[in-house]
Amino acid sequence: MQSPQGGPHTEPQLEEILGILGSNYAGAAGRSVFRYLIICGGAFAVFWVFLHERLEHRKIQEGQPPRKMNLKEARDSIYATLVIAVVTAVSLWLNELGHLQLYMDPMEYGAPWLVVSLVLLVFGFDTYFYWTHRLMHHVALYNWTHEKHHEYTDPSPLAAYSFTAWEALTYALFGPMVLLVLPVNFYVLLIAGSWFTLASTLVHLGYELAPSWWGKSRLTRWIGTSTMHNMHHEYIHYNFALYFTFWDRWMGTMHPDYDEVLEELTAQPLFQRAKAPSKAA
Ligand SMILES: [Zn+2]
Ligand SMILES: [Zn+2]
Repeated sequence: MQSPQGGPHTEPQLEEILGILGSNYAGAAGRSVFRYLIICGGAFAVFWVFLHERLEHRKIQEGQPPRKMNLKEARDSIYATLVIAVVTAVSLWLNELGHLQLYMDPMEYGAPWLVVSLVLLVFGFDTYFYWTHRLMHHVALYNWTHEKHHEYTDPSPLAAYSFTAWEALTYALFGPMVLLVLPVNFYVLLIAGSWFTLASTLVHLGYELAPSWWGKSRLTRWIGTSTMHNMHHEYIHYNFALYFTFWDRWMGTMHPDYDEVLEELTAQPLFQRAKAPSKAA
Protein backbone atom coordinates (compact mmCIF):
# COMPACT_ATOMS: atom_id res chain seq x y z
CA MET A 1 0.00 0.00 0.00
CA GLN A 2 1.25 3.53 -0.86
CA SER A 3 1.03 6.73 1.21
CA PRO A 4 -0.58 9.83 -0.48
CA GLN A 5 2.96 10.99 -1.35
CA GLY A 6 3.64 7.73 -3.18
CA GLY A 7 6.16 6.39 -0.62
CA PRO A 8 5.79 3.14 1.32
CA HIS A 9 2.83 3.01 3.71
CA THR A 10 3.99 3.36 7.31
CA GLU A 11 0.63 3.50 9.21
CA PRO A 12 0.32 0.80 11.85
CA GLN A 13 -1.34 -2.32 10.46
CA LEU A 14 -3.53 -2.61 13.54
CA GLU A 15 -5.92 0.07 12.28
CA GLU A 16 -6.32 -1.76 9.00
CA ILE A 17 -6.99 -5.07 10.78
CA LEU A 18 -9.54 -3.44 13.10
CA GLY A 19 -11.23 -1.87 10.06
CA ILE A 20 -11.55 -5.27 8.34
CA LEU A 21 -12.75 -6.95 11.55
CA GLY A 22 -15.23 -4.11 12.19
CA SER A 23 -16.76 -4.37 8.75
CA ASN A 24 -16.83 -8.22 8.92
CA TYR A 25 -18.48 -7.98 12.35
CA ALA A 26 -21.14 -5.48 11.25
CA GLY A 27 -22.16 -7.79 8.38
CA ALA A 28 -22.07 -10.98 10.49
CA ALA A 29 -23.98 -9.44 13.42
CA GLY A 30 -26.60 -7.94 11.09
CA ARG A 31 -27.17 -11.28 9.33
CA SER A 32 -27.30 -13.24 12.62
CA VAL A 33 -29.79 -10.93 14.35
CA PHE A 34 -31.93 -10.76 11.20
CA ARG A 35 -31.95 -14.57 10.92
CA TYR A 36 -32.86 -14.89 14.61
CA LEU A 37 -35.70 -12.38 14.39
CA ILE A 38 -37.19 -13.92 11.23
CA ILE A 39 -36.88 -17.63 12.12
CA CYS A 40 -37.13 -17.72 15.94
CA GLY A 41 -39.34 -14.61 16.25
CA GLY A 42 -41.53 -15.87 13.39
CA ALA A 43 -41.96 -19.31 15.02
CA PHE A 44 -42.85 -17.65 18.35
CA ALA A 45 -45.48 -15.45 16.65
CA VAL A 46 -47.02 -18.41 14.76
CA PHE A 47 -47.03 -21.05 17.53
CA TRP A 48 -47.09 -19.11 20.80
CA VAL A 49 -49.40 -16.28 19.71
CA PHE A 50 -51.63 -17.22 16.73
CA LEU A 51 -51.98 -21.02 16.92
CA HIS A 52 -51.54 -21.72 20.63
CA GLU A 53 -55.21 -22.51 21.23
CA ARG A 54 -55.63 -24.72 18.14
CA LEU A 55 -52.48 -26.67 19.05
CA GLU A 56 -53.11 -26.97 22.76
CA HIS A 57 -53.28 -30.79 22.47
CA ARG A 58 -49.72 -30.71 21.07
CA LYS A 59 -48.23 -28.49 23.83
CA ILE A 60 -45.45 -30.58 25.39
CA GLN A 61 -45.79 -29.09 28.89
CA GLU A 62 -48.99 -27.68 30.35
CA GLY A 63 -49.55 -23.92 30.59
CA GLN A 64 -47.42 -21.08 29.27
CA PRO A 65 -44.57 -19.32 31.06
CA PRO A 66 -45.03 -15.56 31.68
CA ARG A 67 -44.26 -13.27 28.74
CA LYS A 68 -41.42 -11.62 30.65
CA MET A 69 -39.59 -14.98 30.52
CA ASN A 70 -39.97 -14.99 26.73
CA LEU A 71 -38.52 -11.47 26.58
CA LYS A 72 -35.57 -12.65 28.66
CA GLU A 73 -35.06 -15.58 26.28
CA ALA A 74 -34.94 -13.10 23.38
CA ARG A 75 -32.51 -10.80 25.18
CA ASP A 76 -30.16 -13.72 25.99
CA SER A 77 -30.39 -15.03 22.43
CA ILE A 78 -29.58 -11.70 20.77
CA TYR A 79 -26.59 -11.33 23.09
CA ALA A 80 -25.34 -14.82 22.09
CA THR A 81 -25.80 -14.14 18.36
CA LEU A 82 -23.64 -11.02 18.80
CA VAL A 83 -20.95 -13.21 20.42
CA ILE A 84 -21.18 -15.79 17.60
CA ALA A 85 -20.73 -12.93 15.09
CA VAL A 86 -17.28 -12.25 16.63
CA VAL A 87 -16.19 -15.78 15.66
CA THR A 88 -17.62 -15.30 12.15
CA ALA A 89 -15.84 -11.94 11.71
CA VAL A 90 -12.46 -13.30 12.86
CA SER A 91 -12.91 -16.47 10.75
CA LEU A 92 -13.60 -14.45 7.58
CA TRP A 93 -10.45 -12.44 8.23
CA LEU A 94 -8.35 -15.59 8.84
CA ASN A 95 -9.78 -17.02 5.65
CA GLU A 96 -8.70 -13.93 3.69
CA LEU A 97 -5.20 -14.50 5.11
CA GLY A 98 -5.28 -18.09 3.81
CA HIS A 99 -5.45 -19.88 7.18
CA LEU A 100 -8.91 -21.42 6.62
CA GLN A 101 -10.24 -23.39 3.66
CA LEU A 102 -13.51 -21.61 2.89
CA TYR A 103 -14.01 -21.43 -0.90
CA MET A 104 -16.53 -19.46 -2.93
CA ASP A 105 -16.80 -21.29 -6.29
CA PRO A 106 -19.15 -24.26 -5.64
CA MET A 107 -17.52 -26.33 -8.41
CA GLU A 108 -13.93 -25.92 -7.17
CA TYR A 109 -13.95 -29.38 -5.52
CA GLY A 110 -16.82 -30.83 -7.58
CA ALA A 111 -20.53 -31.34 -6.86
CA PRO A 112 -20.21 -34.60 -4.82
CA TRP A 113 -18.00 -32.82 -2.27
CA LEU A 114 -20.76 -30.24 -1.70
CA VAL A 115 -23.07 -33.05 -0.56
CA VAL A 116 -20.40 -34.99 1.37
CA SER A 117 -19.18 -31.87 3.20
CA LEU A 118 -22.75 -30.90 4.16
CA VAL A 119 -23.41 -34.40 5.54
CA LEU A 120 -20.10 -34.27 7.46
CA LEU A 121 -20.98 -30.85 8.90
CA VAL A 122 -24.46 -31.92 10.03
CA PHE A 123 -23.47 -35.27 11.56
CA GLY A 124 -20.19 -33.84 12.83
CA PHE A 125 -21.93 -30.96 14.58
CA ASP A 126 -24.49 -33.27 16.18
CA THR A 127 -21.63 -35.34 17.64
CA TYR A 128 -19.73 -32.22 18.71
CA PHE A 129 -22.90 -30.75 20.28
CA TYR A 130 -23.73 -33.94 22.19
CA TRP A 131 -20.27 -34.24 23.78
CA THR A 132 -19.62 -30.55 24.48
CA HIS A 133 -23.16 -30.23 25.88
CA ARG A 134 -22.61 -33.24 28.16
CA LEU A 135 -19.28 -31.76 29.22
CA MET A 136 -20.99 -28.47 30.13
CA HIS A 137 -23.29 -30.43 32.42
CA HIS A 138 -20.23 -31.44 34.47
CA VAL A 139 -20.41 -29.94 37.93
CA ALA A 140 -17.13 -28.04 37.42
CA LEU A 141 -18.42 -26.25 34.30
CA TYR A 142 -22.20 -26.12 34.58
CA ASN A 143 -22.74 -22.90 36.56
CA TRP A 144 -20.68 -20.61 34.38
CA THR A 145 -21.23 -22.21 30.98
CA HIS A 146 -24.67 -23.74 30.69
CA GLU A 147 -26.90 -22.91 33.67
CA LYS A 148 -28.35 -19.92 31.81
CA HIS A 149 -29.84 -22.18 29.13
CA HIS A 150 -31.61 -24.15 31.85
CA GLU A 151 -33.24 -21.08 33.43
CA TYR A 152 -36.06 -21.92 31.03
CA THR A 153 -37.77 -25.16 32.03
CA ASP A 154 -40.51 -24.71 29.39
CA PRO A 155 -38.64 -22.83 26.63
CA SER A 156 -40.14 -21.09 23.60
CA PRO A 157 -38.44 -20.71 20.16
CA LEU A 158 -37.01 -17.41 21.45
CA ALA A 159 -34.66 -19.50 23.65
CA ALA A 160 -32.98 -21.03 20.57
CA TYR A 161 -29.77 -19.09 21.32
CA SER A 162 -30.15 -18.49 25.08
CA PHE A 163 -26.50 -19.22 25.79
CA THR A 164 -23.76 -17.69 27.91
CA ALA A 165 -20.84 -16.27 25.90
CA TRP A 166 -18.86 -19.45 26.73
CA GLU A 167 -21.53 -21.75 25.41
CA ALA A 168 -22.05 -19.60 22.29
CA LEU A 169 -18.28 -19.61 21.61
CA THR A 170 -18.10 -23.40 22.08
CA TYR A 171 -20.69 -24.05 19.37
CA ALA A 172 -19.48 -21.25 17.07
CA LEU A 173 -15.90 -22.57 17.03
CA PHE A 174 -17.01 -25.80 15.34
CA GLY A 175 -17.09 -24.14 11.86
CA PRO A 176 -13.57 -22.61 11.94
CA MET A 177 -12.13 -25.84 13.43
CA VAL A 178 -13.53 -27.83 10.49
CA LEU A 179 -12.23 -25.19 8.05
CA LEU A 180 -8.72 -25.68 9.41
CA VAL A 181 -8.67 -29.23 8.02
CA LEU A 182 -11.37 -29.46 5.33
CA PRO A 183 -12.34 -27.24 2.39
CA VAL A 184 -15.97 -26.14 2.71
CA ASN A 185 -17.95 -24.07 0.22
CA PHE A 186 -19.43 -20.80 1.51
CA TYR A 187 -22.99 -21.81 0.59
CA VAL A 188 -22.64 -25.23 2.24
CA LEU A 189 -21.55 -23.48 5.43
CA LEU A 190 -24.51 -21.11 5.10
CA ILE A 191 -26.90 -24.09 4.77
CA ALA A 192 -25.29 -25.84 7.78
CA GLY A 193 -25.64 -22.62 9.85
CA SER A 194 -29.27 -22.18 8.84
CA TRP A 195 -29.85 -25.88 9.63
CA PHE A 196 -28.71 -25.15 13.19
CA THR A 197 -31.03 -22.13 13.49
CA LEU A 198 -34.03 -24.08 12.15
CA ALA A 199 -33.29 -27.13 14.31
CA SER A 200 -32.71 -25.07 17.44
CA THR A 201 -35.99 -23.23 16.77
CA LEU A 202 -37.84 -26.52 16.28
CA VAL A 203 -36.45 -28.22 19.40
CA HIS A 204 -37.46 -25.18 21.49
CA LEU A 205 -40.89 -24.94 19.87
CA GLY A 206 -42.74 -26.17 22.96
CA TYR A 207 -45.24 -27.90 20.63
CA GLU A 208 -44.79 -31.30 18.98
CA LEU A 209 -45.52 -31.19 15.24
CA ALA A 210 -44.37 -34.71 14.28
CA PRO A 211 -46.86 -37.20 12.79
CA SER A 212 -47.91 -40.21 14.89
CA TRP A 213 -45.57 -42.64 13.03
CA TRP A 214 -42.44 -40.51 13.63
CA GLY A 215 -41.25 -42.31 16.76
CA LYS A 216 -42.12 -45.79 15.38
CA SER A 217 -40.60 -45.66 11.88
CA ARG A 218 -37.18 -47.30 11.67
CA LEU A 219 -35.82 -44.23 9.89
CA THR A 220 -37.43 -41.19 11.58
CA ARG A 221 -37.03 -42.53 15.13
CA TRP A 222 -33.36 -41.56 14.73
CA ILE A 223 -34.26 -37.92 14.03
CA GLY A 224 -34.73 -35.64 17.04
CA THR A 225 -38.00 -33.92 17.92
CA SER A 226 -39.24 -30.92 19.90
CA THR A 227 -40.30 -33.35 22.64
CA MET A 228 -36.80 -34.77 22.93
CA HIS A 229 -35.12 -31.44 23.74
CA ASN A 230 -38.08 -30.09 25.70
CA MET A 231 -37.63 -33.08 28.03
CA HIS A 232 -33.98 -32.05 28.42
CA HIS A 233 -35.18 -28.69 29.80
CA GLU A 234 -37.72 -30.40 32.05
CA TYR A 235 -35.55 -33.26 33.35
CA ILE A 236 -32.02 -31.88 32.71
CA HIS A 237 -30.06 -35.19 33.00
CA TYR A 238 -31.41 -36.76 29.79
CA ASN A 239 -31.54 -36.04 26.03
CA PHE A 240 -28.33 -34.11 25.30
CA ALA A 241 -28.31 -34.34 21.49
CA LEU A 242 -29.78 -31.83 19.04
CA TYR A 243 -30.41 -33.16 15.51
CA PHE A 244 -30.53 -36.92 15.98
CA THR A 245 -31.26 -39.50 18.65
CA PHE A 246 -28.21 -41.75 17.98
CA TRP A 247 -25.93 -40.55 20.72
CA ASP A 248 -28.56 -40.50 23.46
CA ARG A 249 -29.80 -43.98 22.50
CA TRP A 250 -26.24 -45.38 22.23
CA MET A 251 -24.96 -43.76 25.44
CA GLY A 252 -28.06 -44.57 27.51
CA THR A 253 -28.93 -40.91 28.14
CA MET A 254 -32.32 -40.95 26.40
CA HIS A 255 -35.14 -40.33 28.89
CA PRO A 256 -36.78 -43.74 29.54
CA ASP A 257 -40.25 -42.26 28.86
CA TYR A 258 -39.29 -40.39 25.67
CA ASP A 259 -40.86 -42.79 23.13
CA GLU A 260 -44.02 -43.07 25.20
CA VAL A 261 -44.39 -39.30 25.68
CA LEU A 262 -43.86 -38.74 21.95
CA GLU A 263 -46.47 -41.36 21.10
CA GLU A 264 -49.03 -39.77 23.43
CA LEU A 265 -48.39 -36.25 22.14
CA THR A 266 -48.69 -37.28 18.49
CA ALA A 267 -51.70 -39.59 18.93
CA GLN A 268 -54.15 -36.93 17.75
CA PRO A 269 -53.83 -35.17 14.35
CA LEU A 270 -52.00 -31.84 14.34
CA PHE A 271 -55.10 -29.87 13.37
CA GLN A 272 -58.34 -31.25 14.68
CA ARG A 273 -61.66 -30.61 12.97
CA ALA A 274 -63.90 -28.04 14.64
CA LYS A 275 -66.65 -29.79 16.62
CA ALA A 276 -70.12 -29.76 15.02
CA PRO A 277 -72.65 -27.68 16.99
CA SER A 278 -74.68 -29.84 19.39
CA LYS A 279 -78.28 -30.58 18.24
CA ALA A 280 -79.58 -30.32 21.79
CA ALA A 281 -78.41 -26.71 22.02
ZN1 LIG B 1 -32.50 -25.90 24.94
ZN1 LIG C 1 -28.28 -28.86 28.92
